[in-house]
Amino acid sequence: MGDLSRNFDRSEFACKGKDCCDHSVPVHPDLIEALQTLRDGIGRPLSITSGFRCRRHNAAIGGEEDSFHTLGMAADVACPDGISPEYLAALAEGIDLFHSGGIGVYPSWVHLDVRKNGKARWRK
Ligand SMILES: [Zn+2]
Ligand SMILES: [Zn+2]
Repeated sequence: MGDLSRNFDRSEFACKGKDCCDHSVPVHPDLIEALQTLRDGIGRPLSITSGFRCRRHNAAIGGEEDSFHTLGMAADVACPDGISPEYLAALAEGIDLFHSGGIGVYPSWVHLDVRKNGKARWRK
């Protein structure tokens, strides 16, 4: 039971930087709604490896300057065992808020965001 939705807790999205924003954690409600829908669809716990990043931490780890992580609108989600990033991304495509947002496929995780300025897709 999370404090943001049934399965997600605010602490999971906190900035992971050490000396920056004291682990602040603004999160866009659409991100949580879409992640919970994904979680319900997959029926497995989803681990958030990166949620909010303040600008300082984002710069420190070489994130893109206008990353949606800095707006609390993006999350990197690790693939549960036996689930490929392609499959996780395909499930996300079926969720309106991610479909119209950003989906990036990485070797062992997917980046998902709820941007409102046009969809974006990439693979690394
Ligand atoms: Zn920070
Ligand atoms: Zn990301």
